[in-house]
Amino acid sequence: MAVVVVATVALTRANAVPMAEIAREYVRLALALGQHDPDFVDAYYGPAAVKAEADAARLSLDDIAKTLTTVTEWVKGVPAEGRDELSQLRHQYLLKQLSAMGARVRMLRGERLSFDEESKALYDAVAPTYPDSHFQAVLDRLDKRFPGAGPLVDRYDAWRRAFVIPREKLDTVFTAAINACRERTMKHVKLPPSESFTVEYVTNKSWSGYNWYKGNFTSLIQVNTDLPIYIDRAIDLACHEGYPGHHVYNALLEQHLVKDRGWIEFTVYPLFSPQSLIAEGTANFGIEVAFPGKERVAFEQGTLFALAGLDPARAPEYYETQTLVDELSYTGNEAARRYLNGQMDAEAATAWLARYALMPRERAAQRVRFFDQYRSYAINYNYGKDLVRRFIEARGGTAEHPDKRWQEFTSLLSSPRLPSGLR
Ligand SMILES: [Zn+2]
Repeated sequence: MAVVVVATVALTRANAVPMAEIAREYVRLALALGQHDPDFVDAYYGPAAVKAEADAARLSLDDIAKTLTTVTEWVKGVPAEGRDELSQLRHQYLLKQLSAMGARVRMLRGERLSFDEESKALYDAVAPTYPDSHFQAVLDRLDKRFPGAGPLVDRYDAWRRAFVIPREKLDTVFTAAINACRERTMKHVKLPPSESFTVEYVTNKSWSGYNWYKGNFTSLIQVNTDLPIYIDRAIDLACHEGYPGHHVYNALLEQHLVKDRGWIEFTVYPLFSPQSLIAEGTANFGIEVAFPGKERVAFEQGTLFALAGLDPARAPEYYETQTLVDELSYTGNEAARRYLNGQMDAEAATAWLARYALMPRERAAQRVRFFDQYRSYAINYNYGKDLVRRFIEARGGTAEHPDKRWQEFTSLLSSPRLPSGLR
């Protein structure tokens, strides 16, 4: 039915398609694509009628591709005059999101893209490349911290075992972490009064944590307990999945764009799209916004270590080492790039991650399973965080100006800005 409508609407400037109709068609297409790709629709809380229509139409990938071209022309045909900044961002956002959906359709039809071509097409960004020597310099510094024989990953892992949160204390520690992240966020961000979340502990996933946004300002946060959870993951996950990360990002988009402006395209979150770089980049940078370095160590030492039954005196030692290990974060991109470009098989990528990312074998294998499922999505975490940081600092939101940093951060969370718009 709607495919016929698409084919017959006249495309003249004088007769531009209304944005509300474009937004509805965008949602319908995202949901249609979700029928071919179970990971594609990360969240949907829009009109049930659009979902029912998408379900009933059962569009083929060819139908989706053709309609994407038409809807892209509709967006281009909307006059630019009189748009405020947010409306301009909306316009650019729709074009890039539609283009990414087109790329995902081509991938599902079997087209092979290189890692960088894929990340450009899906996430509007290409992450920098580093040689092994870049990471080796960090490993050499870590090697001095853990002298001895055998692979560095084993020495690092043996030291780190003293910082695992015991399974029976996990919920207590995680609850304390998320309460602290929420309290800090609420001092700076006006959240809808009814916002809330629930937490679940799950197993057998390729990720370590996940936020499932349900609409009406509610989230389900899942924590994967397949592998040992180290103490730093409590604040990392609580900020990243909850406050001021994914839960806050989704709630602010729902408040400002969906409820205030009626822009229903934001009721669907297509996972393999530029929106994900903003989502992951803000969720990771948000950890530092809520818990700047020294404040974090103080909170860990004063509260979380004791709750986890760990020795609080060792908190500074732990975070000094982890700050150095964080410099290895781009190893994830290198392993994914080489693996997905066919330069390494799964076994070689696992071994490379053990050596260069200091991941024990099981964790490295979990990471390779993540690459199989999510592919170049890997860049959204580290490169996304760096792009978000540079954008916010360029606008004055530096660590020395925490109020300004919160203000710029909140404004980014409330707007449809694109990765290429962060540069
Ligand atoms: Zn995330």
